[in-house]
Amino acid sequence: MTRTPLREILRRTDGPLTRELARVGADFGLGQVPADRAPDAVVRSICGYCSTGCSLDVHLQDGLAVNLTPSTGYPVNLGSACPKGWEALAPLTSDQRATTPLARDERGRLQPIGWDDAVTRFVTGIRDVQDRHGPDSVAFLSTGQITTEEMAVLGTVAKFGLGIRHGDGNTRQCMATAVTAYKQSFGADTPPYTYADLEASDVVVLVGSNLAVAHPILWQRLRSNPHDPDVIVVDPRRTDTAAGATQHLAVAPGRDLDLLYGIGHLLIERGAVDHGFVAAHTTGFEAYAQHVAAYTPQRVAEATGIPIAQLERCADTIAAGRAVSFWWTMGVNQSHQGTRTAQAIIDLALLTGSIGRPGTGANSITGQCNAMGSRLFSNTTGLLGGRDFGDATHRAEVAAALGIDAGRIPTETGMAYDQIVEGIAEGRIKALWVIATNTAHSWIGQGQLRDLLDRLDLLVVQDLYATTETAERAHLVLPAAGWGEKDGTFINSERRIGRVRKVAQAPGQALADLHIFRLIAHAAGCGDLVERWRSPEDVFRTLQQLSRGRFFDFSGIDGYADLDTQGGIQWPQPVPGAVPTTERRLYADGRFPTPDGRARFVVDDPRPPAEHVRARRPLVLLTGRGSTSEWHTGTRTRKAPALARLTPDDPYLEIAPDDAAARGITSHDWVEVISERGTVRVRALVTPTVGDGRVFLSMHHEVTNQLTMPAFDPHSRQPAYKHAAVEVRPASAVR
Ligand code: SF4
Repeated sequence: MTRTPLREILRRTDGPLTRELARVGADFGLGQVPADRAPDAVVRSICGYCSTGCSLDVHLQDGLAVNLTPSTGYPVNLGSACPKGWEALAPLTSDQRATTPLARDERGRLQPIGWDDAVTRFVTGIRDVQDRHGPDSVAFLSTGQITTEEMAVLGTVAKFGLGIRHGDGNTRQCMATAVTAYKQSFGADTPPYTYADLEASDVVVLVGSNLAVAHPILWQRLRSNPHDPDVIVVDPRRTDTAAGATQHLAVAPGRDLDLLYGIGHLLIERGAVDHGFVAAHTTGFEAYAQHVAAYTPQRVAEATGIPIAQLERCADTIAAGRAVSFWWTMGVNQSHQGTRTAQAIIDLALLTGSIGRPGTGANSITGQCNAMGSRLFSNTTGLLGGRDFGDATHRAEVAAALGIDAGRIPTETGMAYDQIVEGIAEGRIKALWVIATNTAHSWIGQGQLRDLLDRLDLLVVQDLYATTETAERAHLVLPAAGWGEKDGTFINSERRIGRVRKVAQAPGQALADLHIFRLIAHAAGCGDLVERWRSPEDVFRTLQQLSRGRFFDFSGIDGYADLDTQGGIQWPQPVPGAVPTTERRLYADGRFPTPDGRARFVVDDPRPPAEHVRARRPLVLLTGRGSTSEWHTGTRTRKAPALARLTPDDPYLEIAPDDAAARGITSHDWVEVISERGTVRVRALVTPTVGDGRVFLSMHHEVTNQLTMPAFDPHSRQPAYKHAAVEVRPASAVR
C-alpha cells in the first residue's frame, strides 16, 4: 500500500487549488494521525458498519493501527463485536483502494490525474451541465456511511453553493419509512427507545427484523434479558431470529398490515387497551377501533396464512405483558405499504400504553452506521436540522447559524432518490454526483438503473474504491478516506452520538470527504460557506447550534471532549453541564411533539403488492441480509479476507423442499431465477426456512436487484425490496 505524504501530494499537484489543499491539510492534520494519538495509544472509535454503534478500541503501534478489540464498558456493545467490527481495519489496506483522482481518457479508460485537475473538471463539468440543461439538471446521492459533520458540509456546499437542489441518500433505501411513520404518528422523527429496553421487556415483538443476523449485538442483549421474555417474530421466513423466538408468525409476504390490525382487534376484544394512556396522550383511537373491528381472526387467518390459534396466542401474550416492546427493521421499511405497517406497530404500542416505560416502545432499528445523522443533517430532502426548505423561519434559522444570506437556501425541497432516477430516465437529470454508495448494485430494478447511469453526461463517484459497480461507470472518480481515516461523529439507532476517530492515514492522495467538499467549495467560488469550519469539531458546534430548541437538542454537550468522557451521549441533551444518564428513553411524560401533545393512531386499507404472483411467476422473491459477515454491496466486507472466507463464493437461493422437488432441483444445483426484469443464475439451497411459494436471495449478491421490482411506499418513497414475482428452473447448462 503506497502512502504518499502530504508534501508529495502537493509537489505532484501544484496549482491554484494546492494552496487550499495545503491549508486544509494544516487545518485538519491531513496525512498524519493527530498528535493527541500517541504512537502506541489505544483510540476509541464507533464502528463504521451498522447502526448499532458499537465502540471499538483501536490499538496503535508506532502510530499505525494494528489491531482492535471491542470496548468494554461502552453502554452499547458491552465488550462485544460482530465479525464485521472485528475486521473493521482490513478493508482499509485493500489494494483496490482509489489512491488518486481518476478521469476517463479519450479511449474511455480511467486514468490518474491530480487533485487540481480533478476538482477543476468537477466544477466545470457541473457548471457546463447546468448551463446547457438548467440548474436543476444536476443531482447528488449521499450516504449514511459518512460522518454527520461531512453530511452537513456536503449538503451545505451542494445546495447553497453549487445550486444542486436535488439530492437524496442511500438512507432512502433504509429508513425513510420509519422517519415518515414517526413524523405522522409522534409529530417528529423520534425513535423513543434505549437498547436497555431489550433487556427490560417481558414481551418482545420483532416485525420484519432478523435481529440475530442484521444486529447481532442487539440480539445478544435480548438473549441476556433476565426476565425470560416471550419473543414473537413476524417474518415470512424462518430466519435465525425466528428460530430463536418463542413464537414465529410466518406471515404471508406483503400481508403484515392485515396481521397487525388483526392483533389490534384481538387486543381490544381482550380488554388489553390502556384506556388511561389512550385518553390522556393519544387521538384517533375510536377510528382505529372501528377500523380494526373488521379484521376478525377468520379474515386475518385467511389473509396471512397464520392459524387462528396462533393469532390468539400472540394477542394473549401481548395482553399479559408487563413491559412489551415492539421493534421493526427492513421487513417493514422496505415494503410497498411500509409507512402504514410501521404505524400499525406504533398503534399497538399506543393502545397498550407501551411507551415511555422501561422495556417498552415502538422502536425502529435503522440500518447504516450514521443513518440517524443523515435523518437530521444530510440537508437533502429536509433542510439542516430536521427543518423544511419551504418554511421561511426555518431557512432564516439555518442562514443565521451558517452566517449566510437566507436567499442562498432553496425554497423548495428537491427530488427523492426514485424521482432522481426517473429524472435521469426522462432526460431532466444529466449529471450525478454519488458519494459513498454503490447505487449500480443496490438500487431496486438494477438493470434499468445501470442503463440510465450510462446515459449521463457526467457521473462523478466519490468513494474508497474505484472498483465498485458504480465507480466503474464514472467519468470522474474522487478517492476518499474511509472509516478510521478521519474524525467526526455518528449517531446510532438509540440516538447516541459517538466519536469516530482517525487511526490510520488514507492511502495515496485519498482525502477525507470533508476535505473534498472544501476543495470543491473553493474551486466553485463558494469557499465562504466552509470558511468557519477549520475542524470537524467546528462543524459539530454549528450542528449543536442548529439543534437548539428542537426535539433533538444536543446543545448541552460540551463538544467532542464531552463525548469522549461520557462514552457517547443520547439526544436530547439540552442542558449544559448536565451529567447524562447512561440510558434514556423518550416520552416518559406522555407528551408528544404534535401541536396538541398527543400521539396519533393512523390506519389505512391494506394494498396489494405491486407485482402479483401468477402462473408464469408463481413464487414470491424475498430479499434480506445474508450473514453477519456481509454488509450491503460487499464493497468493504469482501475486501476483508476473514469476512470473505465467511461469505459464500456463489450466490444462493433458498427454496422450499416441495417447490424444489416439483422443479427437479436439489441443493447446490445451478438454477435460473426469472422475473420480468431479467434472469440470473444462482445455486439452490433447498431448505424449509422459506415456506412453500417463497424463495429468498441475500441482498449482498450483485444479481439480486436484477430481479427486484421498482415499487415504492407512497408515503416514504422507500423501495419495496421484499416482494417480486419469480419462477425458478434448473439451469440449462453450467457456465
Ligand atoms: Fe459494527 Fe454493527 Fe457489528 Fe457492532 S453489530 S460491530 S456496529 S457491524
